[in-house]
Amino acid sequence: METLGWKVCVLLAGNWRTATSVLVSNGKRHTVIDTGMPHEAHLLLQALEQHGLRVSDIHSIINTHFHIDHALNNALFPNSLIYGSQESCDWCCSLYSDLRDEQRWEKLVLNYYPEMSSYDHALEHMHQLRKLTLRWWDMNRLGARAQHRWIEQHGLPDGFEALITSGHVPGHVSVVIPDGAQPAIVAGDAFLSRANNDRILTMIPHNRVQAARDREMVLARHGRIFPGHDLDFTNSPNSD
Ligand SMILES: [Zn+2]
Repeated sequence: METLGWKVCVLLAGNWRTATSVLVSNGKRHTVIDTGMPHEAHLLLQALEQHGLRVSDIHSIINTHFHIDHALNNALFPNSLIYGSQESCDWCCSLYSDLRDEQRWEKLVLNYYPEMSSYDHALEHMHQLRKLTLRWWDMNRLGARAQHRWIEQHGLPDGFEALITSGHVPGHVSVVIPDGAQPAIVAGDAFLSRANNDRILTMIPHNRVQAARDREMVLARHGRIFPGHDLDFTNSPNSD
């Protein structure tokens, strides 16, 4: 199997509101990591078109995790395999289902975010996320169950390495694409942005201590880092 010569290109540039989506391609095999939100569908398709690709050319999708801003255009790719961890899928699906509970959601959300009281404005934030959930969440947008390949059983395709970074969401996976001297690390929300992490409108970490460790683990890697909500940059931990 060809494992060298992978190119990683940004399809949707991550920012404080929306998540990074990237294309990994060696000219023959094409993978999309994270697919964005429904209102970004046309942008994702346009970006693929600029690379001369149609949805039917995409062999596989990888979801770093199944938060709304990372996985809701999976259904645009009905012929692709969808890789991600079952742990993060189950956890996120259960979270969004509980956020829809009119009566009990404020209490139920503490099962997922037990450290919430240690964050300023966390409840306000959760109210916003509930709104987003009511507006966008639809399990069908994650793709068909038959397309899913859980990394717990299958690992990642094409020799990509899975770094389990569970601080953000249990089972969150950062993807390492080996490429000789310059590997790429598609960090997802294990590394939100180079600075101003607080401004990012995504969920607070499920586990703050673990999330800090995950960020350190990503920053200890040499290569091109693609944060979940920021532009990519070259990281050289030893030369700093
Ligand atoms: Zn997230």
